[in-house]
Amino acid sequence: MAKIQTNSQNWKFVGGRLCLDFVNTVGGRADATVLRDKLVDYSDLLEWSRFAGVVNPPEVRRLKRHATAHRKDAQQVFGRAVALRKALYRLFESVVRGSRAPASDLNLVTYELRVARIQQRLDRSGAEFIWNWDKASHALDRMLWPVTLSAADLLTSGDLSRLRQCGGHECGWMFLDTSRNRSRHWCDMKDCGNRAKVSRFRQRHQQSQRRARSA
Ligand SMILES: [Zn+2]
Repeated sequence: MAKIQTNSQNWKFVGGRLCLDFVNTVGGRADATVLRDKLVDYSDLLEWSRFAGVVNPPEVRRLKRHATAHRKDAQQVFGRAVALRKALYRLFESVVRGSRAPASDLNLVTYELRVARIQQRLDRSGAEFIWNWDKASHALDRMLWPVTLSAADLLTSGDLSRLRQCGGHECGWMFLDTSRNRSRHWCDMKDCGNRAKVSRFRQRHQQSQRRARSA
């Protein structure tokens, strides 16, 4: 398979939560089928993690070296990331559709949550105590920990009524609608919102032409 070129411009952070942006690391979806996957290998996962702010540049360099020396492990983590993304997508989709959450997806996220929580460390930050990760860790899956915790936080937050799925054709991105009147339909007005506007304009134009011809 040809390597898809990725750079900072390919990553968009419009979900409003880390876990939603992670689910949105695809070009789009038709039902649950991924179209134009942006995560093709572990290095893509690392790049997304850097732009998402879950690993910093020195960590990226360290993880890159470690992934090169342990290709199989990196591949395995990548497989876990894709499986986690699929499970999260289906859980969020079940919220949006008001359907049952698949048990296999709940199990998978529960497993990843256990893995993540083991890595948490209580630290002192000034006057406060905070949860932190082991900074020196070479763990190749470290970007999955905050993603999983973000999903667990969102899913257990109690109010999921603002969770939306973009209405764009073959998009399927997820986001939190934080607009005051809960009227956000699109992942991005410049993208799906604009396409919908153009398509509505075209439809109206065709209708008025048909009416003019039949008059
Ligand atoms: Zn969209």
